[in-house]
Amino acid sequence: MSENLNPFSIAQAQLDEAAAVLQLDPQMHAFLREPMREFHFTIPIKMDDGQTKTFRGYRVQYNDARGPAKGGIRFHPDETIDTVRALAAWMTWKTAVADIPLGGGKGGVICNPRELSQGELERLSRGYMRNITRYVGLTQDVPAPDVNTNPQVMAWMLDEYESIMGHREPGVITGKPLALGGSAGRTPATALGGLFAIREAAKNLNLSLENATCAIQGYGNVGSFAHKLGSNQFGLKVVAVSDEFGAIYNENGLDPKAVSQHLRRNGKLKDCPNTENLTNAELLELEVDILIPAAIENQLTSQNADRIKTKIVAELANGPTTPEADNILNDKGTYIIPDFLCNAGGVIVSYFEMVQNSYQFYWDESMVHERLDKKITTAFNAVHRMSQKQSVDTRVAAYLVAVDRVAEAVRLRGWV
Ligand code: NAD
Repeated sequence: MSENLNPFSIAQAQLDEAAAVLQLDPQMHAFLREPMREFHFTIPIKMDDGQTKTFRGYRVQYNDARGPAKGGIRFHPDETIDTVRALAAWMTWKTAVADIPLGGGKGGVICNPRELSQGELERLSRGYMRNITRYVGLTQDVPAPDVNTNPQVMAWMLDEYESIMGHREPGVITGKPLALGGSAGRTPATALGGLFAIREAAKNLNLSLENATCAIQGYGNVGSFAHKLGSNQFGLKVVAVSDEFGAIYNENGLDPKAVSQHLRRNGKLKDCPNTENLTNAELLELEVDILIPAAIENQLTSQNADRIKTKIVAELANGPTTPEADNILNDKGTYIIPDFLCNAGGVIVSYFEMVQNSYQFYWDESMVHERLDKKITTAFNAVHRMSQKQSVDTRVAAYLVAVDRVAEAVRLRGWV
């Protein structure tokens, strides 16, 4: 039978495995397997050539028992409702494992932002927000950026929301530009949180991070900061990085400044001076201490897992490993830092952003990162301890911690 790569089926299968270990009440299990609310809508946009083009948008509020739903918005040509559902489920587990008072949600628009002018992108962002205005808010659901959306997109969405509502409410959306109430230290937060988790995993494996070798798949917001901060603050030797067009390699380590400069000038990583070109598949199979998938879903599968030769897989991307690959890697003794723990730094600092917006009092970057370190380290230790106590792999352990917390809130509310 071929491997099931539907992200929502994978998210449900992961929950099923944890539910069996937790001996979760079947009625609670059935409730947690499905999103609580979904919004499907069309967004008609006047294009620059005068024609109207209709885009499809989604917002899923998977579970808000622990607090308002929270999750990013993706603009992607391959977006599907099942991808949004899976990402919303993972947000629910992520906010729970990080122990922040929020639920899980996610949004998306099927579009190719590279084919849109700035004006079209602005109209699409505002059109998306018009459709969800009555369902979001500081106490309901708080969106944020994700793949192909950024602080400018958040600024347009914030302005649309506030124009409709007739008041200022910066906490309705996070990942905003600093000038509109964004938090210091938000942009590198996902990568930095992942690096704090890698530091904790390395301690458990007696692995020194100084000159530990590392390969990073994906060179967007998350991957590029993982390279820069990993090299400059944690002493990692990043020997390979990739984007959708291919990978580059240097056994002595890649200089983040030189790589970013090359990417800015050429639009892709390939052919960077002083490096060797590799394929993306080759990057994943390098013999390195730490492998960081920071691109898209389903990158480590039954097709390549037996050739992955790394001590730690740090999943900064969402859903990069299929359940079959998980089994193969766990059998080999690979230490996996599961996605919704590893990449929780973004939502943790988004939560800090909401807190600062509510108080209208702002922290400096060092305070943001110090508090992020505390949150991620606490979450990592809870998962690691659970994995040892229950003799389960780290992904199941993360589910055990998260599902237990969400189920408790659901039970206390009397929903199940
Ligand atoms: P991004 O759009 O900024 O970057 C994505 C990168 O992946 C780009 O460099 C792209 O070229 C590359 N890529 C795409 N397909 C690829 C492939 N097949 N092989 C290799 N590289 C490929 O996105 P991002 O914000 O950096 O997010 C990356 C991942 O991290 C996603 O899974 C996202 O859901 C997850 N994540 C992001 C955040 C955040 O704060 N940005 C938070 C949590 C999780």
